[in-house]
Amino acid sequence: MQKGACVFTTYIIGTFIILSITVSALFFHIYRKEKDEFIMYWGLTWAFYSISLACLLTATDTEIHQFMEIKKIFDLYSIQSLLFGVYKFYRVKIPGFWMRFSIYLTVWLCIAIYLKLDALSAALPIFIFDLLMIGTVCYVIMRYWDQKKNEKVFYCIAFSLWGAMKAFLVIYETSGFQSPNPYIGEMLYAGVLNVCIFIIYLRYIKQELDKTEQRFKIIVENAIDAIFYYTFRPTPTFQYITPSIEEITGYSPQVFYNNPKAMLEIVDKDYFQLINSVFYSGPDAAFPTSEVFKIERKDGASIWVSMNVSVIREDEKIVAVEGIIRDITQMKEAQDDLTTSKRSRDLMLSYISHELKTPITSILGYATALKDGTIGEEEEKQKAVEIISQKSLILERMILDLFQLSQLETNQYSFTYKHMDCLELAEYIREHTTPELKESEVAHKFIIEGEKLEGHNIIVDPVRISQVITNLIVNAIKYTRKKNQITVKCVADDKKKNIIISVADKGIGIAEEDLPHIFERFFKVKDPSGGKTPGSGLGLPLSKEIVEAHKGTIEAKSKYGRGSVFIVTLPIYEETYDE
Ligand code: ADP
Repeated sequence: MQKGACVFTTYIIGTFIILSITVSALFFHIYRKEKDEFIMYWGLTWAFYSISLACLLTATDTEIHQFMEIKKIFDLYSIQSLLFGVYKFYRVKIPGFWMRFSIYLTVWLCIAIYLKLDALSAALPIFIFDLLMIGTVCYVIMRYWDQKKNEKVFYCIAFSLWGAMKAFLVIYETSGFQSPNPYIGEMLYAGVLNVCIFIIYLRYIKQELDKTEQRFKIIVENAIDAIFYYTFRPTPTFQYITPSIEEITGYSPQVFYNNPKAMLEIVDKDYFQLINSVFYSGPDAAFPTSEVFKIERKDGASIWVSMNVSVIREDEKIVAVEGIIRDITQMKEAQDDLTTSKRSRDLMLSYISHELKTPITSILGYATALKDGTIGEEEEKQKAVEIISQKSLILERMILDLFQLSQLETNQYSFTYKHMDCLELAEYIREHTTPELKESEVAHKFIIEGEKLEGHNIIVDPVRISQVITNLIVNAIKYTRKKNQITVKCVADDKKKNIIISVADKGIGIAEEDLPHIFERFFKVKDPSGGKTPGSGLGLPLSKEIVEAHKGTIEAKSKYGRGSVFIVTLPIYEETYDE
């Protein structure tokens, strides 16, 4: 080789060494960040290749035979790393025999150099092995790469050519180092191959990114909650908001993109300040992380939403906020219901204990007096026993009412419904309530408009309905003076749709402010002296439950001091008898 040509070749090889080291370093750098093993193997490919070139450099200067032999080993490991990278790239397990054979060949070459065997017997196994490996590279690409066939064939040809060149060089070197030209050609080709590998890698990244984006999109766009990204740069605006915002607010994402203040326009005025601080007070605002507030939907409905916000910083400065908006109306309502029902249960328990306490205190008082002999007189004893039995009856009534009420509420109360003629029902009620009226000595009237009722069917539990009417009559008696009259009336309405049973008295009546409450549990009107009227305050609520179970209604009309009327309306069964 001439001196000038030699210097020139040295420069070229040197340049390619630097290039290979750079590419290798780049691959290792990517590997450190991404931890993809195929990148590491490809880094090794170019690292071994640069060492192989360095051997060549030595050969050009000194023409030392051994370096050319060692070069074969590095070429072998370079191709092997390429093969391993391809295996890893397609997630195929690397068979162990490749590595074993490489080691055997390395040992074989060392022996060949030591024994000074002829060059061909040393190089031939490596030549075959190189060809095998590059053939496998092409096989793996063709089998596992999900790209178009043309593209796969293109890459296979590129790799095969390189393999063939390398294998050829192995044989070429057996006749000693002659000219650097074939090496320069191979080096240039290695550069092209590098570009190919980089393209494969870029396509891989793009594919992975697409997959991730697709997955992210599926999750985000199908989420029930709305996810948003609100940036402060260059101007405050929604950069992204998921379509689910329309489900929650009734407004499409476009509304939010077009109007960065849309959130302020739909938020309830009580929470205006809060939302203002998140979206519109700029990046220096103090951001709440999690908030619950009310908004008005497009259809006018008011709903509760929760919003979790996290801030995005760049160089310590807040540049955006991202967050999740969730419709929590149902949860909030359930929570409120729970609180109300808890409160009413507590109230109920306190009422019960209070109401039970009064009769029990007097029972206990009289019983103690009887036991320790404080009451001595026979007549007083008799009176005490009577009071005890009276109070016990009140207790029994109250416990029974409470029990029935709770059964009605939990649907455990059993009704024995019957198909009856309306007139038959009216007669049944009269029969079962007359004793109460008679005993009371209050003037009374029981009116049944038989001709209107007869021939119309009704489905009722007659026992329960007379229980209701008895209760109304007992009340009427309780709150009426003897000479005043009580009127019980059973009629059908004009359209014969309902049977109307009313209990009217001319008693003390109910004040206007008390009237809306008389069907509430334990409600008792205060008597003029300020105390509460006797009774449990459970009769009317129980009556209401029973009537409503019959799909009927109960109402009260009253004038304070003038009397009251309680009206029970029950639906008549559509079918009528043929006369
Ligand atoms: P009670 O067992 O205390 O009578 P109710 O639930 O039947 O319980 O009645 C609730 C309250 O309604 C009574 O305390 C009473 O003040 C009032 N009330 C009910 N019926 C009449 C009526 N006919 N006239 C006046 N007040 C009545």
